[in-house]
Amino acid sequence: MEFEAVIGLEVHVQLTTKTKMFCSCSTKFGNPPNTNVCPICMGFPGVLPVINKKAIEYALKLAIALGCKINLRSVMARKHYFYPDLPKGYQISQYELPIAEEGAVEIEINGQRKKVNLVRIHMEEDAGKLIHDEKHPYSYVDFNRAGVPLLEIVSKPEISSPEEAVAYLKTLRRIVRYLGICDGNMEEGSLRCDANVSVRPKGSSKFGTKVELKNMNSFKHVEKALSYEIKRQIGLLLEGKEVVQETRLYDEATQTTHPMRGKEEAHDYCYFPDPDLIEVKVPESWVEQVAKELPELPSQKKDRFLKEYGLTEKEVDILIEEKDFADFFESTVKLYGNPKPVANFLLTEVLRYLNRDHKLIGETKLTPELISELLTLVDKGVISITTAKQQVFPEVYESGTSPKKVVEEKGLVQESSEDKLRAVCEEVLKENPAEVEKYKKGKKGLLGFFVGQVMKKTRGKANPKVVNQILQKLLES
Ligand code: ADP
Ligand code: ZN
Ligand code: MG
Repeated sequence: MEFEAVIGLEVHVQLTTKTKMFCSCSTKFGNPPNTNVCPICMGFPGVLPVINKKAIEYALKLAIALGCKINLRSVMARKHYFYPDLPKGYQISQYELPIAEEGAVEIEINGQRKKVNLVRIHMEEDAGKLIHDEKHPYSYVDFNRAGVPLLEIVSKPEISSPEEAVAYLKTLRRIVRYLGICDGNMEEGSLRCDANVSVRPKGSSKFGTKVELKNMNSFKHVEKALSYEIKRQIGLLLEGKEVVQETRLYDEATQTTHPMRGKEEAHDYCYFPDPDLIEVKVPESWVEQVAKELPELPSQKKDRFLKEYGLTEKEVDILIEEKDFADFFESTVKLYGNPKPVANFLLTEVLRYLNRDHKLIGETKLTPELISELLTLVDKGVISITTAKQQVFPEVYESGTSPKKVVEEKGLVQESSEDKLRAVCEEVLKENPAEVEKYKKGKKGLLGFFVGQVMKKTRGKANPKVVNQILQKLLES
């Protein structure tokens, strides 16, 4: 019997507003524990929450970007449960009337596009964080995160494989980063996901019993946890056993999942509208304003790049991954003129350095002007592309110095003088009589070897085109 997986994701994105959802405390990550706190986010009695307008604006941005139906009237509700990281004893969230419903995330796998429909997007506040230290018989609690604004994006159970789940998350991450509403950092917990998964006989229209997976803080974990869980559930069904509805935790060390809590313990949150907060009323004009100011989204940029620049889909996918990188590319093309060499240089040299240093383009000294100038030096024959890559670019990258200046200071101007280069070529041929013999007997591939020797002698400064011509002439004579 063949089985298929059914997956629905609940994604939490932490908003990059300066202040928390209901108070003016900072949302900054990494401050000393319990320094971003006040009576409101600590849940003292008698305090009054006031909703952060920026958080609503961010919710609208995402809702519009994903084509959701926006509820112009939505309600904040209390969701009650006890946990030491939740000082009020309830989380302020949205229940019956969320800010947005429906909409979709369009994913792409191996060139195939697929729409994953959404149930809803709602606003809520984050809880604090427990810190467990094995050296102590107790845990610490840090309330800096308590009250940080979150959006929860709930998908319909329309995802059919771990690969699709990862594609969905990556697409959503790219979108929230383009919108500038979340930094998408999974390790720091700015983007978190609970994955619901069930299996059923292939073709069946009835859903199987679902299990909820938590505790995955990278794309890889999500993929591994889901793959393991799908296998586990199929194994149970094949043995004639039943899948138990429960919440399971992913364990990175063993790459397996284990039970955290069962359905018996399922919470009754006793939701009700928070009497301290008025309804969230969004004027239609605000929605229109936000829609007007929405940046070009990743998929739109991809389509436009494919049309305008004559690049491959693979190149475009990498170029548009980070909005700043895509902008950098376009600014450089505007200065330089020809997109292909710019794309080549950015996707090889520049990306290699960014990956090496774990940096974004904006965190370096590089500018479109510098890259354009460097490529122009190559075009004019002042330096070879090899010199540009190996000797000029590293210096430009480290210091932000203009390529022209680097070339002058290091004396890297390409040697194109035939007279000077002929002497070097003759020297190389004289030093390698055996190779010359072989070349003359038909081993023409040796030309590259001779060129290499000339480049070595001139420390990469010789114009390879000129060297090629001279060598051929000398060898044919
Ligand atoms: P609950 O009431 O248990 O929270 P919901 O209906 O709110 O369940 O759905 C929560 C998430 O679980 C959604 O993302 C949804 O797509 C997903 N989901 C629901 N049923 C299934 C199922 N049978 N298999 C996989 N995912 C499911
Ligand atoms: Zn506060
Ligand atoms: Mg639910």
